[in-house]
Amino acid sequence: MSEKMSTTKMSEEEKLLAGYFVCFKCLRLFIPSTASECSECGWLKCPECDACLCSLSKEAQIAALTVYISHAIIPPREVLWWYERIKKIGEELIREREGK
Ligand SMILES: [Zn+2]
Ligand SMILES: [Zn+2]
Repeated sequence: MSEKMSTTKMSEEEKLLAGYFVCFKCLRLFIPSTASECSECGWLKCPECDACLCSLSKEAQIAALTVYISHAIIPPREVLWWYERIKKIGEELIREREGK
């Protein structure tokens, strides 16, 4: 499907420096603008394997997102959006743990 992308001559290092995303699941590199957003989690779906945040456990989702908003250069409004998301996942997790 996305064979075209893998024919580019860039090395993995060059791709990472150019802002490519790394897929959580298959670890392939992809260009964020070529990926579509998941309507469930709001994260980008990997063009190769279709993975998004939904493919991760809640613990892993929180880890991925906290690192993302702490280290990525993203607009403040987006940081807040994801932060709200993190808190919601955290609350769900606590409820699941207590869930008896
Ligand atoms: Zn993938
Ligand atoms: Zn998703």
